[in-house]
Amino acid sequence: MYLSELKKLDQQYIAGTYRRADLGAASGSGATCTDMEGRVYIDFSAGIGVNSLGFASARWAQAVKDQVDTLCHISNLYYTQPQVEVAKVLCERTGMDRVFFGNSGAEANECAIKTARKYSSDKYGAGRHEIITLVNSFHGRTIATLAATGQDVFHQNFGPFPDGFSYAKANDLAGLTAMISGKTCAIMMEMIQGEGGVIPLAPEFVQGVAALCAEKDILLIIDEVQTGVGRTGRFVCYRHFGVRPDIVTLAKGLGGGLPIGACLLGEKVKHTLGPGDHGTTFGGNPVVCAGARVILDTIDGKFLDDVADKGAYLAAELQKLDGITAVSGMGLMLGAELEQPLTAAAVAAAGLGEGLIVLTAKEKLRFLPPLTITKDEIDSGLAILAKAITQVKEKINETPTEDA
Ligand SMILES: *Cc1c(COP(=O)(O)O)cnc(C)c1O
Repeated sequence: MYLSELKKLDQQYIAGTYRRADLGAASGSGATCTDMEGRVYIDFSAGIGVNSLGFASARWAQAVKDQVDTLCHISNLYYTQPQVEVAKVLCERTGMDRVFFGNSGAEANECAIKTARKYSSDKYGAGRHEIITLVNSFHGRTIATLAATGQDVFHQNFGPFPDGFSYAKANDLAGLTAMISGKTCAIMMEMIQGEGGVIPLAPEFVQGVAALCAEKDILLIIDEVQTGVGRTGRFVCYRHFGVRPDIVTLAKGLGGGLPIGACLLGEKVKHTLGPGDHGTTFGGNPVVCAGARVILDTIDGKFLDDVADKGAYLAAELQKLDGITAVSGMGLMLGAELEQPLTAAAVAAAGLGEGLIVLTAKEKLRFLPPLTITKDEIDSGLAILAKAITQVKEKINETPTEDA
């Protein structure tokens, strides 16, 4: 089938929720993807931070295939080994105590919200249910996680939303403190606002919030759905900030290509959820956990140092590119601001035409390459990006302006 045919069928049969780019992906290997016409692309997206080990990583694929052949699914009414093994490693790597598995980032955050509310209701009774999140945050697309998301664009047309969410300005500790009341049960935030434009929080702010939470018995929920599992050069991003959350959510990079979400529960909340309080049919399925186990085994200290090193290299090289004015982010989660009047959408589209898959976040280009990408592959991708920027600039210069 050709991309033109595929697009026609997509338009006819798929809900129109995605503004898809012109790429019909056929296969992939490591940090390269091949389309239906046989063109090859350098991948700076990793399926939005999912393919931690790249496309078709051999050990991961073998573990998944073996598990499919052995035991694919039995439901959470019974015990399975891959699930407990992944939970054990997650607790050991993060200092958390229990894990609830779901199938996505939004589901991990739903679990975090329910846990925070139940902890508070068990201890203080009804009414202490409010959760403060940050302006410009992103926590998911379900009704509750949309309510937690501090961006008005996502709220149009879908109300009413559940009560009990309010949005504080990032890095304004006094402002956030003023919003806390006797009804506040949790504060939820990303260490680097991903969808919001790859914007890291200020360490003093994060540490101030953690101290406030500890003092007032307010739970600190850190959404590591995009930043977690090695993406920023530490296993979890909050390690860079020196804080200890009560609840941590993971998803994207833990999947390696399969859907998984994990809500990690710390000391205070390890017994909050009991039988019947929460559940899912697919969550923590043996196949996705067999894959996740390989990812966790692979991401050791040396691997994380490599991620930090490659991230620093990519950031420095991006900074040198003509047309890029600033670079933000940590490790292999980076954003690049473009010189006016270049737009991220135009540069990403031109990049795709030249063989580069790169994401955008708000007005920035966003880089989430597979953690296994090599420096040579980074160089190839950057050369294409430079070409794409030049193309877009030329196009802008060709377009006659009003007064020309
Ligand atoms: C992607 C993302 C989510 C939502 O994850 P889904 O798997 O799409 O539900 C939540 N929080 C953050 C920070 C994310 O980046």
